[in-house]
Amino acid sequence: MKTLGLIGGMSWESTVSYYQAINRGVNQRLGGLHSAKLLLSSVDFAQIEHLQHKGDWALLGRLLSHEALNLENAGADAILICTNTMHKVAEEVESALSIPLLHIADATGYQLQRHQITKVGLLGTQFTMEQNFYIGRLEDKFGIDVIVPDPPQRSLIHNIIYEQLCKGVICTESRKAYIDIINSLAMQGAQWVILGCTEIALLVQQTHTSVRLFDTTTIHAEAAVHFALE
Ligand code: GLU
Repeated sequence: MKTLGLIGGMSWESTVSYYQAINRGVNQRLGGLHSAKLLLSSVDFAQIEHLQHKGDWALLGRLLSHEALNLENAGADAILICTNTMHKVAEEVESALSIPLLHIADATGYQLQRHQITKVGLLGTQFTMEQNFYIGRLEDKFGIDVIVPDPPQRSLIHNIIYEQLCKGVICTESRKAYIDIINSLAMQGAQWVILGCTEIALLVQQTHTSVRLFDTTTIHAEAAVHFALE
């Protein structure tokens, strides 16, 4: 089995989901008492969030590259950045490494293609919904048409992520707001809706809506399990 290097803590609430999903995935395939071999480098999210909202992506790129290199030097065979948003600096991190970076948008794109999905809705932070690093990759590399909520909805989704989900706060009211937005994306033609922020599945699960949801934490963790065992 290969060793996975996880850059987590963004936020730690979703790193818990990754740790669980990867270990469960390995155990499902190997049985018995098998679990994943992994290394975790968990950052202080207050610093990351501050730099994100300040727009200092250059420093964020250097910080994550440093974490990734530490994991490589400690023996990781591949790196996962356990957040969608921080894939904004994925290329810089990748270029610092001599081991592969398992990109969250690629894991998502391959699965959407496999299910012949061509038009999706996307929920995530405003960085993910409004910039090109994630949507552009799905469109250019996988030919998937991505639609996002309108600006006031995007701001609502973003604030709930940082003010509630990253702090482990789960509110029924916020879930209802997310479900309404998911329904409006489906009405605009989205076949599936991507939960493109690794904390959203803590709030909204498939049982809450008939619109098909696609959780990036689960998909990314599955890609990691596949890599570790291939
Ligand atoms: N975990 C979130 C994501 O997947 C948001 C936190 C962050 O900004 O990294 O985008």
